[in-house]
Amino acid sequence: MDFRFCPGCAVPLIRLPSGTDAGLLGCPHGHYIHYANPAVTAFAFIEDDGRYLALRRAHAPELGDWDLPGGFIEAGEYPDDAIRREILEETALTVSGLRVFGAWTGQYGEGGKWTVDIAYHCQREAGAVVISDEKSQAMWVTLEDFPAPAFNSERLALDVLRHS
Ligand SMILES: [Zn+2]
Repeated sequence: MDFRFCPGCAVPLIRLPSGTDAGLLGCPHGHYIHYANPAVTAFAFIEDDGRYLALRRAHAPELGDWDLPGGFIEAGEYPDDAIRREILEETALTVSGLRVFGAWTGQYGEGGKWTVDIAYHCQREAGAVVISDEKSQAMWVTLEDFPAPAFNSERLALDVLRHS
């Protein structure tokens, strides 16, 4: 989303000419500075007897590519709760042994929104996979056979798991 007007006084935002925030968009009257901070996401490699769950994307962006269960963390939500929520929504599984093993930077969607993506490892605890309408297919595969995931952080995380 592009921010063009001050939410305080509705004048057009300008590139701030000086100060620690020089170059950022801001209100010339000092009401507002637009910090282009990344959004935070979480994704998970769910392990079950040496195989991991891969999901195929049913929507843009990256329609038809494989990826991992996950999504955007909501404001105020703890990352562990976010990944449990996303896993349940997208796969109907519950998981145990949640462990963060890395975080990387990526971009999402047509706008190229910057993200910071937290990678989890966990175990399938209970349930059979029931995919949501966000996904078209699910499969359990070894790390060796895991298809190249859609997103940069997922690819880097897969590489770490393969070499650990
Ligand atoms: Zn203003």
